[in-house]
Amino acid sequence: MIPALMPTYNRADLAFERGEGARLWTVDGRRFLDFGAGIATTSLGHGHPHLTKAIAEQAAKVMHVSNLYRVPQAEELAARHVAASFADSVFFCNSGAEANEGMVKAVRKYHAENGNPERFHMICFEGAFHGRTLAMLSATGNEKYLAGFGPPVQGFEHVPFDNMNAVRSAINEHTAGIMIEPIQGEGGVRPAPIRFLRELRAVCDEYGLLLALDEVQTGMGRSGKLWAHQWAGIEPDVMSSAKGIGGGFPLGAVLAKEHVAKHLKPGTHGTTYGGNPLACAAGLAVMDVIMAPGFLDGVDRVARHLWKGLVELAAKHPAVIEEVRGAGLLVGIKLKPEINNGDMQAAAVAEGLLTVAAGMNVLRLAPPLIITEAEADEAVALLDRACRRMTPSASQAAAQ
Ligand SMILES: *Cc1c(COP(=O)(O)O)cnc(C)c1O
Repeated sequence: MIPALMPTYNRADLAFERGEGARLWTVDGRRFLDFGAGIATTSLGHGHPHLTKAIAEQAAKVMHVSNLYRVPQAEELAARHVAASFADSVFFCNSGAEANEGMVKAVRKYHAENGNPERFHMICFEGAFHGRTLAMLSATGNEKYLAGFGPPVQGFEHVPFDNMNAVRSAINEHTAGIMIEPIQGEGGVRPAPIRFLRELRAVCDEYGLLLALDEVQTGMGRSGKLWAHQWAGIEPDVMSSAKGIGGGFPLGAVLAKEHVAKHLKPGTHGTTYGGNPLACAAGLAVMDVIMAPGFLDGVDRVARHLWKGLVELAAKHPAVIEEVRGAGLLVGIKLKPEINNGDMQAAAVAEGLLTVAAGMNVLRLAPPLIITEAEADEAVALLDRACRRMTPSASQAAAQ
């Protein structure tokens, strides 16, 4: 018989009761170190006092009023994001896919309003992940996800990642923009080289295209800067955010320059829940913490410490680990073809460490941004034990 909860996920048999920082406890009392953070989402860790207090206080006052009225929390949160980024204006929604939908609509509207309605195609990349709505399935372009859901939504073309020739030859009179994750997350924690991001910016300027960045996973401090594109010293025209922005509370955002945002006039786009007082109170609390002086420097520092440990781990287990890649606290451990990332993830769970699998046989680490160096060391030690589980002969040799 079908479970009451629709079986769209292969869930691990773990149910958590409570969390504190980077720790989670199951209902049966087992303790885990959480280096998955609900898929790069609980950026402040579990039970962060400033975040939980902000949510509790706002919930007791007013949670939702709709966008028929002014929402001061949303106005303040937007102003703070504008002050901290390339953007001039922000639209709030509830998830990453919804943010990407808004971003693509903004790009299409920009060209339509500028007299070029035929320019509605986005150039996207192989290995991308942009979400599960009908249009974002097409932007993602993964045949496996598209199968059975009817014809793909028009206007998304895919070219190989990090290939400027392919990008240039895909541009035609229908091209509206280029949509890319600065680091492909679900696809296997594959960073776009800084040179490539700069070349994409330049080609957009050359052809009057909009650069649309999907920073749903890479943003809000995860890379060690507020937004991952800042490492490349470029600015997009429009960007999506979600995952870390609400610290675990559902919140998404489209951040845009004025030349894009000004075309989304009243009635052109909307959402009932988006930017409600409760979600924005959570967003403000996250902003308080992440923008506090020194916080992002601390993320960068602990990330470098973690990377050092992981690079040593890779050298120690050449039969298990092929490569460590990513940026900041979005780390991909690419495993040898003989080692299955799902098995490795299960081995880590057996050692008390939560991670997330990603494409290309990668084990992904995306811990809360508040981890300490001691917690980073602990994760490396647990991964060391998990690696030994994957190579019984090596661990026997070590035991002798
Ligand atoms: C997770 C993710 C999405 C989809 O976000 P949802 O909140 O699941 O809709 C889109 N883009 C990227 C890069 C993501 O990592």
